[in-house]
Amino acid sequence: MELMCPIDQHCSHQIAALLQPPSPLLVQEYFEQLISKRQLHGIKVKQNGEFGKGVFAETNFEEEQLILKDQMLVGIQHPSNKIDCLVCSYCFKFIGSIEQQIGRKLYLKTLGVGISPHNGKGCHDNSSDKDQDNHFVQNHHNSDDGASSSSNSTIPLPTMAVESLMNGELALPYSNKFPLPSVVSCPGGCEEAFYCSKSCAEADWESFHCLLCTGEKSEFHSRETLLKFIQHANETNDIFLLAAKAISFTILRYRKLKACHLREQEKTATSMLGTSDLSLLLEAWKPISIGHKRRWWDCIALPDDIDTSDEATFRRQIRELAFTSLQLLKEAIFDKECEPLFSLEIYGHIIGMFELNNLDLVVASSVEDYFLYVDDLPYPEKKEAEKITQPYLDALGDDYSICCQGTAFFPLQSCMNHSCCPNAKAFKRDEDRDGQATIIALRPICKGEEVTISYIDEDLSFEERQALLADYGFRCRCARCLDEEP
Ligand SMILES: [Zn+2]
Ligand SMILES: [Zn+2]
Ligand SMILES: [Zn+2]
Repeated sequence: MELMCPIDQHCSHQIAALLQPPSPLLVQEYFEQLISKRQLHGIKVKQNGEFGKGVFAETNFEEEQLILKDQMLVGIQHPSNKIDCLVCSYCFKFIGSIEQQIGRKLYLKTLGVGISPHNGKGCHDNSSDKDQDNHFVQNHHNSDDGASSSSNSTIPLPTMAVESLMNGELALPYSNKFPLPSVVSCPGGCEEAFYCSKSCAEADWESFHCLLCTGEKSEFHSRETLLKFIQHANETNDIFLLAAKAISFTILRYRKLKACHLREQEKTATSMLGTSDLSLLLEAWKPISIGHKRRWWDCIALPDDIDTSDEATFRRQIRELAFTSLQLLKEAIFDKECEPLFSLEIYGHIIGMFELNNLDLVVASSVEDYFLYVDDLPYPEKKEAEKITQPYLDALGDDYSICCQGTAFFPLQSCMNHSCCPNAKAFKRDEDRDGQATIIALRPICKGEEVTISYIDEDLSFEERQALLADYGFRCRCARCLDEEP
């Protein structure tokens, strides 16, 4: 029997309003404001009937020129990656020090936390074959590129050596060439979120974290259920953590808008009819409403190992999984005035939006940079330095170079259409050390031309490309595909 979400039923009117696709005018306004607020230049988002939204050049770009940096709307570091990289929970910069990064990683490894980064993630792997992040982690673990260290085997260090790194007693040679911002703790008192600065801590608290923090000062109803929700997401699919952030973000925006609205009313001495104002909720929801969405269990690609005859069962299971996650989240942070956000219909669409706009969050590792620097030193200095650094490198093994990895929703990048002969790509330059997406021109782009990126490996054959792109819900009709079509 099909499970029912009671909120789906009695909030159906508000849910329909929230899921109404935004008008082209609203979309246009939203992006104009976003582009001007972020002081981006030379691009414009346009609606073009057949393909929906697209990003267009408003100026000429040269080959390799930066087109834009896109600040994420919501993003998370994969829980399994937290062992490897200590980053700011808001901007995703590496924090602490090279010593702390290495010491912490080795310490967590000795605790056995990091032995298998995929333990308990079986469902995640099955439920999303588009999730390239996981494949990336696996490839990364198995690769032996550029490392002067041992392959997969590591040589453990005495506990003392790890402790002296963590408590700052030992300074590694040349680590001062790689200064990192010092660690700022979460103002709510949890031991899970850390920041590069007070401003990042405050921004995260105000935008997302005050409802999802498990510390003393958090605003949850039940710490126990919040922890259960997080554990469930870690064990099944961390896309739920992203969805929870999107919901928290909308609730907090709603509260701010409402406070503002009430102040206005006091001034003008008018009364506000009803406590829950749908128009305020719609306004709070606007940034999320812009993203293209479908129900997660309808749009998720059928994994290769699932037979098409089992498709209905698979989709039902995905829906049930989302429902279980939602019940935990609801018990932990429910807000009556934002009730429609806790419906399965909305939860499914938020997750579906992340599924369809699944973009990797990647920040290069400062620890990797450090070891490459030491490796590049001239002979006598290198030999001296390696006397100290080599045991740490041996203890880390291939893990020394793991970068920060996660998933995020980037509002502008998510508007970029695909082409199998794209004129731009997402590419992090040496100086791009935070979670923003960076889009670079692959060849000269003329004013008025659409900026396109490739969602897939464009070296694949025509048939392979079309098969992969079908998971995104379209058949590619780019110039190259029209040319290669049999
Ligand atoms: Zn930060
Ligand atoms: Zn916290
Ligand atoms: Zn194509």
